[in-house]
Amino acid sequence: MLNKKSVEDIAIKGKKVLVRCDFNVPLDADRNITDETRIDGALPTIKYLIENGAKVILCSHMGKPKGEPKPELSLAPVAKALSAKLGKDVIFAADATVVGENAKKAVAEMAEGDVVLLENTRYRAEETKNVPEFSKELASLADVFVNDAFGTAHRAHCSNVGVTDYLDTAACGYLIAKEIEFLGNAVNNPVRPLVAVLGGSKVSSKISVINNLLEKVDTLIIGGGMAYTFMKALGKNVGDSLLEEDYIEYAKEMMEKAEKKGVKLLIPVDTVVAKEFNNDAESKISEGGIEDGWMGLDIGPKTTEIFKDALKDAKTVVWNGPMGVFEMPNFAKGTNAIAEVLADIDATTIIGGGDSVAAVNQAGLGDKMSHISTGGGASLEFLEGKDLPGIVALNDK
Ligand code: AMP
Repeated sequence: MLNKKSVEDIAIKGKKVLVRCDFNVPLDADRNITDETRIDGALPTIKYLIENGAKVILCSHMGKPKGEPKPELSLAPVAKALSAKLGKDVIFAADATVVGENAKKAVAEMAEGDVVLLENTRYRAEETKNVPEFSKELASLADVFVNDAFGTAHRAHCSNVGVTDYLDTAACGYLIAKEIEFLGNAVNNPVRPLVAVLGGSKVSSKISVINNLLEKVDTLIIGGGMAYTFMKALGKNVGDSLLEEDYIEYAKEMMEKAEKKGVKLLIPVDTVVAKEFNNDAESKISEGGIEDGWMGLDIGPKTTEIFKDALKDAKTVVWNGPMGVFEMPNFAKGTNAIAEVLADIDATTIIGGGDSVAAVNQAGLGDKMSHISTGGGASLEFLEGKDLPGIVALNDK
């Protein structure tokens, strides 16, 4: 899955290149873009294509219009932002059907280096069902396909998978190439020791990640809400903390698997507990188990030291999920401490999407990490060892 052609491996001069981007940016009530990170992330591929004489046709989804042309989810604001960033006119093809008269006309009139942006691909109900008809329509606009939307790579949709059935050339852009390089190497060919840090609310949402990573890592650190199911499996009381009773057996199995594989599995030895799920609730440090009437909302200071110690000599670290309720400042210390260690150590540090990215950015340490994944769900599936359809569909080298 990792040996895929990139934009640099394919002929693009004078060709119409359809690029699947991730322009699913947040908008405020007046449809102003409130965070342009995703647009910035797409620029290297777009600029490369422009500079090398391609006719660049961009497409993306935004939000969930559920197969209907909802004006509030139009990509028009993205065309405007892109024009400003590229310093050239990006023609917006405002077709409710995505591939309509505007798109066809704009593409027919393109010169080398021109850029056209299609309307939200999810205006079409076929998109998320990967129906051939819409894939064919998209492909009919182009000669070559480039996928640079890692955030949707775990889904098989028309605009990232179906379209490759009708175009001979399908390569990845720089963003996906970077994701494959970092996540792929971390999981399949890491510089060791490899340490994974998993947190977040639930064991159930990360079962396959735990299971797969136990095959790969030297040390697995478990914090956050999911840790209490593991503590319970060790026979400890967890009070009113998050607990998934149905997964206690599973947690036991994972601990046995770690032991068999010689993987060091670290679970909290102390916890910051509170009376209520509230930043200002009465709180204290609880060693070992947790009394009834108290809930664990962060890892405790001893645990923080143990986790830091396990990370200090790591050469590769993958982090997915906060150590506590980091949105509340009084319970963000454990998560911040992990972010700080990762920023300091001499290792390849990979932040696997979602809340850990928010936590790292909240700590102001985003630029100290080797790689911040752009896809929460996609990076989780990657860590689960699954093939991502959006990447599998691209041409092998
Ligand atoms: P996830 O989406 O599964 O990665 O979970 C992220 C969420 O887990 C964040 O919103 C955290 O606030 C939450 N979380 C982390 N630790 C705890 C905890 N001890 N109790 C409740 N929620 C937690």
